[in-house]
Amino acid sequence: MNVVLLGIQGSGKGTQSDLLVEKYGLVHITTGGLFRQNIKQETRLGKIAKSFIDKGELVPDEYAFEIVSKALSSAKDGFILDGFPRNLEQTKFLLNKFEIDKVFLLELDDETAIERILARRQCKKCKKVYNILFQKPKVKNVCDICGGELILREDDNKKAICKRIEKFHHETEKVIKLFKEQSNFFSINATQSLSVISKEIISKIN
Ligand code: ADP
Ligand code: ZN
Repeated sequence: MNVVLLGIQGSGKGTQSDLLVEKYGLVHITTGGLFRQNIKQETRLGKIAKSFIDKGELVPDEYAFEIVSKALSSAKDGFILDGFPRNLEQTKFLLNKFEIDKVFLLELDDETAIERILARRQCKKCKKVYNILFQKPKVKNVCDICGGELILREDDNKKAICKRIEKFHHETEKVIKLFKEQSNFFSINATQSLSVISKEIISKIN
């Protein structure tokens, strides 16, 4: 089964992906995460991507294609795609290569999105995502799972967030419009609790 999760920054795509990975054993592909991994390892792709990511810009398609192709080729038994496609070119690229079984849109208003992103913290070591408002770690700034330090992502500052949200409305909304016309598209209210959202997703998958 191949699943695409769409939604504005902070709508909970990553968190829902983790839950689906656990339940269905799908491979979670997150282009943002893959870029950050490349930045950390100082690869060629990472060096290129960093300058765009820091500003809240999209990384040019050719690099997004490179990173996502590699990941998709090792997910033959099904994937959850999170953060791709973000524009129509990326959508064409994906649909040319893969059948998509379900598309979920996590719907959230801009204001709540910004509030959530500013409260987002990520484990430096294992990359698990927390939220200091409603998904707190047991000990402040410490990862429940691995004890790693929780940090704010470098691009989670107000300026870069607003830029990304603007890109979402400008580019990714066109992708949503396209998928919306298909019968395998489901829109979900992302202001609901994590467990209600995941139940809704699971009910549509089963
Ligand atoms: P967010 O959803 O909060 O923007 P992500 O982790 O999904 O966070 O993405 C972080 C950054 O990685 C984006 O701002 C963008 O620069 C880059 N990126 C992620 N996915 C793509 C993509 N499909 N195409 C181009 N750039 C991407
Ligand atoms: Zn951790």
